[in-house]
Amino acid sequence: MRNDKGTLLRPDPLPDSASYPVVTPLSPSVVYGSDTPDMLDQQYDGDLHGYTYSREGHPNADVVAKRVDRLEGAPHLGVVTGSGMAAVSAVLLGLTRPGDHIIGSNQLYGRTMRLMNDDLPRLGMHTSLVDVGNVDAVRDALRPETNMIIVEVVSNPTLRVADMDGLAQLAREKNVTLVVDNTFTTPRSYQPFAHGADIVIHSLTKLLSGHSDAMLGYVAARDADVLDRLRVFSVTTGLTPSPFDCWMTERGMLSFDLRFDRAQSSAKMLADFLAEQSGVTRVIYPGRDDHPDHKRAKDLLGDQFCNMVSFEIEGGRAAANAFSRGATGLAFAPTLGDVGTTVSHPASSSHRALTEDQRAALGMSEGFFRISVGLENPDELCAAFARGLAALKD
Ligand code: PLP
Repeated sequence: MRNDKGTLLRPDPLPDSASYPVVTPLSPSVVYGSDTPDMLDQQYDGDLHGYTYSREGHPNADVVAKRVDRLEGAPHLGVVTGSGMAAVSAVLLGLTRPGDHIIGSNQLYGRTMRLMNDDLPRLGMHTSLVDVGNVDAVRDALRPETNMIIVEVVSNPTLRVADMDGLAQLAREKNVTLVVDNTFTTPRSYQPFAHGADIVIHSLTKLLSGHSDAMLGYVAARDADVLDRLRVFSVTTGLTPSPFDCWMTERGMLSFDLRFDRAQSSAKMLADFLAEQSGVTRVIYPGRDDHPDHKRAKDLLGDQFCNMVSFEIEGGRAAANAFSRGATGLAFAPTLGDVGTTVSHPASSSHRALTEDQRAALGMSEGFFRISVGLENPDELCAAFARGLAALKD
C-alpha cells in the first residue's frame, strides 16, 4: 500500500508534476511494493510489468540495457550485470555443464582467461585456447562436445584482429554458440549480432561508460531462451548491478559517439607520431598499413579502428620506468576507455602472471606498452609521449 497520507516509516509520494525530468531519476530502492498479492502474482508471472527486488532487476538497469540493445541491434532486452566479468561469468558458467568443451581465443582478457584455465576445468568443463585469427586452428580444436566459442574482436594488448566472418561461418556450420566480447571494438565499430554472433558481452566499465567511475557489464543473446537462462543465472548468483553505477553509465553513454570518434582519430594520429620517433621499435594500430591484420580490420571495422594503440621501446624494465616517469600527465593505469588517456604496462600488470618467455611468445617485452587514447588535445598528447621518450635518452 502506498503511503498516500505520508504516515509511518515510508517516504512521501513524489509530488505531482505536469512536466518531467530530463535526466533519468536514480532509483536506489532495493524493494518495490505492490498494491495487492494478486498484483504481485501477476508481476511474478510476467503478466504485469513491475519491479520487486532490485537483485531481480530495477529501472536504472533496464534503461542502460535498452540503450546498449539499441546500439548493438540486440533482439531482446539485455541483462546488465555488476561488472564486465559478471557478464562473462554468466555466459561461461551459466550456459555450460560438466563435459562441455569451450574454445576461446588465446588472447582473451586476463580474467576471462583465468575462468577458462582454472574455474571451468575445476567444474568439469573442458577448454582450449587457440589463435582466432586462424579459422583452421579453431576448426582443428573442435570436438563433438564443443558448444561454445568465445572471442574478442581485437585482442588485448597485441591488437590482433580475429577472423570474425570465418568464425561465424564455422559456428553456424557446427551449431556452436559464438560469443563475442565487444568491449574494445564497441558497437560503433563492430556489431556482432549483424555478423552472426549468438551472444554479445560488454564491459560497460570501459568506453561505453567512459569515465572510470562506474563498473558495469552487459550481455545479450539472439535466442530468447538463452537470454532467459542468463537472466535467471545472474539473478540467482547475484551478478546484479547497482542502480548508481547504471545511472552513471547512462550519463556516460550520452556522449559515447562523440568520445569514441574523437579518441579514435587521436589514436591514429598518435600511432603515426610514435612510429616516427626514435627509441620506438614497434607501433601496433589496426588502422595502419603495417599492421599484420590491417586488411581484415578494414573489412570488419570500416574506418573505425578504435582507440587502442600499443608500442614498444628498447631497454627493458629500466627504460619502461624511465618512460613512465618522464611522460608526465599520462595516467599509468591498467584500464581503458576513460576520457583521459591511460597507458598500461602488461608485463607489470595484466600479464604479470606469465613468464618472460610466455610474454615473448605473445610479442610483449618489458618495453611493451598499451595506450587507451582519450580526449585530450592531440598535440598535447603527442607532447606527453615525446616527454617520456626524451627521458630514455637522459
Ligand atoms: N572484457 C574485456 C575485453 C576487458 O578488457 C575487461 C576489463 O578490462 C573485461 C571484460 C572485464 O570487465 P570489468 O572490469 O568491467 O569486469
